[in-house]
Amino acid sequence: MLRIGQGYDLHRVTPGRPLRLGGITIPAPFGLDGHSDADVLLHAVIDAMLGSMALGDIGGWFPDTDPQWLGVDSRVLLQTVLDDPRMAAWHLVNLDCTIIAEHPKLAPWRSPIQQSLAAQFGVPPECISIKAKTNEGVDAVGSGEAIAAWAVLLATNNPTP
Ligand code: MG
Repeated sequence: MLRIGQGYDLHRVTPGRPLRLGGITIPAPFGLDGHSDADVLLHAVIDAMLGSMALGDIGGWFPDTDPQWLGVDSRVLLQTVLDDPRMAAWHLVNLDCTIIAEHPKLAPWRSPIQQSLAAQFGVPPECISIKAKTNEGVDAVGSGEAIAAWAVLLATNNPTP
């Protein structure tokens, strides 16, 4: 059996926080606002995971009113989902991500993000695609007020995909 999931997230840019994308800290004069580390890419990936299994959404799993998740590394959130017993029979076929950010330039960080996600999912890097683009100056993302991310993934419970 195969199951597909998609996820989307957007966070406001804010000064004075580290910029976290895909589990990597990226040098930038700003970070993203949020209750956790505000890793917008990992949040989209988590929602894609949950969507593929029809297990709700990240806000339901990790409420931003819960002090347990204040400032948490979003890799911990992803691992919590991966470790759920309902995920045990499933593994990742491939994950395709798009980060939309006017700044900073993300091309040098695509490979480190790919490696980080591949390690966490326990799959070869070629199963993980990280794409980055700008919004051509249009809307809140284009003006640099926010960064957004999309993720689509395919999971299988076939032991020999
Ligand atoms: Mg989020």
